[in-house]
Amino acid sequence: MKPKIDFTKIKNALPIDIALAHYGITLKVSGPRLVGCCPIHDGTNKRAFVVSTDHRAWHCFGDCKRGGTVLDLVRALEKCSLVEAAKIIAKRYGLGASR
Ligand SMILES: [Zn+2]
Repeated sequence: MKPKIDFTKIKNALPIDIALAHYGITLKVSGPRLVGCCPIHDGTNKRAFVVSTDHRAWHCFGDCKRGGTVLDLVRALEKCSLVEAAKIIAKRYGLGASR
């Protein structure tokens, strides 16, 4: 049997700032948001990369214009597929994949 990946569980369990911390990326609190340089296109605009306070969504207002969930973020940082990103997160944080 193939292990089933629960994308929703992963998205709900892992805040984006925790995922970013693994890559040595910290953001500044700015009102109801977290902001920083975009780690995906290596931007220098300190306000281009925005994470909403519930930590479930992010968006780059700089060059790459990417955004999404924590899964999309890890996918972009690891340059892998969505399924691979889910597996990486599940393994790293011990969640998501049921046997
Ligand atoms: Zn960007």
